[in-house]
Amino acid sequence: MEIVQKEKEKMVLPGELIGTSEEFIPKKGTFEERGNIYATGTGYVKTNSKERSISVEPVTSTPPALAVGDIVIGQVTDLKESVALVEIAGIKGRGERAIVNSEGAAIHVSNVKDAYVKDLSYEFAPFDIVKGRVLDLRNMRLSTVNKELGVMKAYCGNCRTVLKRENDKLKCPNCKRTETRKMSSDYGTGII
Ligand code: ZN
Repeated sequence: MEIVQKEKEKMVLPGELIGTSEEFIPKKGTFEERGNIYATGTGYVKTNSKERSISVEPVTSTPPALAVGDIVIGQVTDLKESVALVEIAGIKGRGERAIVNSEGAAIHVSNVKDAYVKDLSYEFAPFDIVKGRVLDLRNMRLSTVNKELGVMKAYCGNCRTVLKRENDKLKCPNCKRTETRKMSSDYGTGII
């Protein structure tokens, strides 16, 4: 019999630190970075003491149906060679705070901006909060081609401080590191 413990029904948000790889084996609904385990989506933390595993069980809610053309807000969970993976957190005009229990969406390298993208890591990074438009529902593709679309909030890859916009670049006020992103014209404003 599996011993599954719900850690006092602890609810976490995307990107929240839930443990370390020394304590747990990361399972469903989590990702590992530099020895830390984070939640990919909103949900409840579950630990299995027998397996020494940790997972995040999604919050069950009735997701508002997405439609092509919808503007969504989400968090980048991973970067692959040609796509950025995004966990959708809300839909514009239908309650930005609504939790969509989405399987996740993807921004293909060809849908990032109106210019050639050489390397996706110059455009997005895990944890970034992005605003995108739904291109198709079957493959859940998003586009950030447009000046108001793109990264809304980004964190320093070195110290995780929120990056401040400085002209067309982003700067860490803490460690002074400079990063680039496909920024939304609304970067840092919180406007969806
Ligand atoms: Zn920094």
